[in-house]
Amino acid sequence: HMQTFNATADKIAAAVKAHPHPHAWNPETDLATYRQKGGYSLLKDLAAGKRTIDELVKIVSDAGLRGLGGAGFPTGRKWSLVRSEPAPRLFAVNCDEGEPGTFKDRYYLERDPHRFIEGMLIAAFVVEAADTYLYIRDEYPEIRLMLIEELGKVAAAGLSPHTKVHVRRGAGAYICGEESAMIESIEGKRGLPRHRPPYVAQKGLFGRPTLEQNVETMYWIRDIIEKGPQWFASQGKPERTGFRSFSVSGRVKNPGVKVAPAGTTIRELIENYCGGMQGGHTLKGFLPGGASGGIFPASFAEHPLDFGTFEKHGGFVGSHAVVILSDKDDMKAVALNLMKFFEDESCGQCTPCRVGTEKAVKLMEHGPWNVGLLTELSTLMRDASICGLGQAAPNPLLSVLTYFPEDLETPLQDLAP
Ligand code: SF4
Repeated sequence: HMQTFNATADKIAAAVKAHPHPHAWNPETDLATYRQKGGYSLLKDLAAGKRTIDELVKIVSDAGLRGLGGAGFPTGRKWSLVRSEPAPRLFAVNCDEGEPGTFKDRYYLERDPHRFIEGMLIAAFVVEAADTYLYIRDEYPEIRLMLIEELGKVAAAGLSPHTKVHVRRGAGAYICGEESAMIESIEGKRGLPRHRPPYVAQKGLFGRPTLEQNVETMYWIRDIIEKGPQWFASQGKPERTGFRSFSVSGRVKNPGVKVAPAGTTIRELIENYCGGMQGGHTLKGFLPGGASGGIFPASFAEHPLDFGTFEKHGGFVGSHAVVILSDKDDMKAVALNLMKFFEDESCGQCTPCRVGTEKAVKLMEHGPWNVGLLTELSTLMRDASICGLGQAAPNPLLSVLTYFPEDLETPLQDLAP
């Protein structure tokens, strides 16, 4: 077992070395090093009654921390809601990170796992969850092994008597990142999204009130409590709160995770954080929020990126996965690629999504695009699908119809490499 772990640690160290972090995390960071630097003292203070739960909930609320998995729900409010439900309560942590273009959770777990673990243990303490389920995607095998190892050390050090952490392995299904499908999957069933209400906070895992949180949301808990709510709240752009971890990929010189104020624009991300566009490429469009957040033209480059800022234009920022596209990219091909992804990943539970994605792919593959029919199909999928996958699947297609009409005139190209 130790040998496996050493090989795991070597792989993670190599990955981290290839992409150094602005906070300069040392890949050898382990429990002892983390504790030497003050780690887990906050959790111990909480357990010893030196800090109160109400105080922590207030700090997290005042900081304006929101669910960074993509939904943006205020974290402090979620903690209060779950606490107001009857015990026993459970806790589920979403480390499925399957949204195309999103890689920030992996980044933080590889570089500073104990900061995440401490945040998670604090949240478990706050909602008094005797059991915590950490759901991690199968595509992160090294991280899973590392977390099992480190969680064992944390338990052996007596730091987590209040909750038992169960690590659950996903099996490569995008839909299992959807909160209710994840709950089903943890329970050992097929990952089919549930109808809501009841909400997961009221009736989640095994029918109990459940707190569900994303990895990155938990990652910032310790810093927010130690440095104070103002530290986090004041780092956004005017009228925006906090910073965000943008996963930037595509036609930029230096892609990667960029920590920037909430409300940063595409232009700023490209110029100030990514070293500009790649040589020979001109910004043509971008995905502000992974596969389902729509595709926007360069005329939106000065638009603030944050929860709620793209909704009225037919998209969203969600998990802050930004993909930069250039004049070398065919927007129809991008939309088709994404629709094929949704066709593959649809759980098949409801007809508008299962059949709608398949029909849309057929209509898009064999052009010219029938705008009337595609619009009608998109409306049906958006209005009648059970969960976010089917509801948002037409976003990239509708974006092309709305924002890139000139692309409809040209034949469909292969996706450029
Ligand atoms: Fe499944 Fe799609 Fe329906 Fe969601 S919208 S429940 S993924 S078939």
